[in-house]
Amino acid sequence: MAETPVLAALKQAVAECRKCVLCGTRTQTVFSDGSPTAKLVFVGEAPGRDEDLKGLPFVGRAGQLLDKMIAAIGMRREEVYICNVLKCRPPDNRTPLPEEVEQCLPYLEQQLALVRPALICALGLSSLQALLKTKASMASMRGRTFEYKGIPLIPTYHPAALLRNPSLKREAWVDMQRVRETLIARTGT
Ligand code: URA
Repeated sequence: MAETPVLAALKQAVAECRKCVLCGTRTQTVFSDGSPTAKLVFVGEAPGRDEDLKGLPFVGRAGQLLDKMIAAIGMRREEVYICNVLKCRPPDNRTPLPEEVEQCLPYLEQQLALVRPALICALGLSSLQALLKTKASMASMRGRTFEYKGIPLIPTYHPAALLRNPSLKREAWVDMQRVRETLIARTGT
């Protein structure tokens, strides 16, 4: 679905952003994929190599697993909104630095304010910590529902972590059921 004009303007501002060093190594910025009117938003960490080349989030191996997680709750990628904390790829896919998160977070905050989803699913620790402004671990946070500016937020493992450690998949599937049930409770669908 096409971006709304305000989201399109924000996407353009992101494309021109030079607030941190990552603008020097990116191929292009990665803003979002999916529907700008989605009830459910997935927030990942940062673009990887495939995303940097394509300009879309979650299009590599982790993205294929995310598509399966979305299918597991009876939805399609086109029905949800997918974005990241960082809009530029960190070199060698390293973890985002605190100053990079600080510079980039306002873009994510504006995206969430414009999409106004009924539910946010935070994929991985960077997303969870940035959105909830916490330093807590994923193990201590997952399995519960939190709140981001009045919107329920459910944390789960990043799909890349699930690829590295398949034994975490069972917990991630439990989290996805929580996502589905919360979405039904909030929206009736
Ligand atoms: N990992 C992320 O966190 N985001 C992407 O877009 C791809 C991989």
